[in-house]
Amino acid sequence: MKITSLALAAAIGLTLAACSPKSEAPKEPAAAETAAPAETAKAPGAFSIGEYQALSLLDGTLEFPNDNKVVGVGKTAEEVAAVLTAAGLPTDKLGLTIEPLLVKAGDKVLLFDTGAGTNFGPTAGKLGQSLTEAGVEAASVTDIFISHVHGDHVGGLVNADGALVFPNATVHIGAADWAFLQGLSAENGAKVGVGNPVALVTAVTPKVDAFKPGADLVPGVVQAVDIKGHTPGHSGYLIGAGADSVLYIGDTMHHYVVSVQKPDWTIAFDHDAPTAQKSRAEVLAQSAASGQRIYAVHFPYPGLGKFEKRGEEFVWVAE
Ligand SMILES: [Zn+2]
Repeated sequence: MKITSLALAAAIGLTLAACSPKSEAPKEPAAAETAAPAETAKAPGAFSIGEYQALSLLDGTLEFPNDNKVVGVGKTAEEVAAVLTAAGLPTDKLGLTIEPLLVKAGDKVLLFDTGAGTNFGPTAGKLGQSLTEAGVEAASVTDIFISHVHGDHVGGLVNADGALVFPNATVHIGAADWAFLQGLSAENGAKVGVGNPVALVTAVTPKVDAFKPGADLVPGVVQAVDIKGHTPGHSGYLIGAGADSVLYIGDTMHHYVVSVQKPDWTIAFDHDAPTAQKSRAEVLAQSAASGQRIYAVHFPYPGLGKFEKRGEEFVWVAE
């Protein structure tokens, strides 16, 4: 497990490096290509979860070439391209959105993941801007729920100076992921997209609630859902109850076509690939069968929808 994690972390490091401003990866086309649809779809980011108000907050976009180093590891570019073509998407690259979720429940202001902060260059790290546009003050956030400790989820916890962005919020993190983050050296932090793990740990330590898998974190409002494989303590969150509830799936899936239609294909970011593949298949089957509403932080903005089974495959149906 440990060796697997390190090996995959190394793979992550390589791919994340390709997204950093220092690299010579084609950044400009990536930004231009993905910014337009996000902008045009920005208005409908608000929705309801039962009596709670929810808002999808755009943090930015990431893009990867179709070279089997990130998506479809062990497959060929042609195999990935065939899936993309069938969905009417370009075949040379794959785009991901980053969109943390805000939920107002009574006197609580809940934030699910925090975006990339300064970890991923100019195409991401815009959560603060989105909060301002929504009229939400960072100091009003009472609880933050981290799905896992990769840089595009914890980066927004601190600003460029290493200070807490949400000074009044309890930061809920799965215990195994908190231990993982605490154990990261500066070098290994970079491999999971966390620029300065030591400073991050120092800043958030007084705020952290390290919870056990499946913990009832805000009774009746937020329950952790154990979804294993992506990181040691990766967690989803069930928000609300009954038919209106939303399952926040974190990085159970990354791409709204490839991850959904080919759940057994490996993505380089999964620390324990076989377990992550199993988790993807289970979440897809259970959610499609029950009609569970889903929030997918990396799917096209605003990330809300359901999975449906069509023939032998599942598809993402945006709400
Ligand atoms: Zn992610």
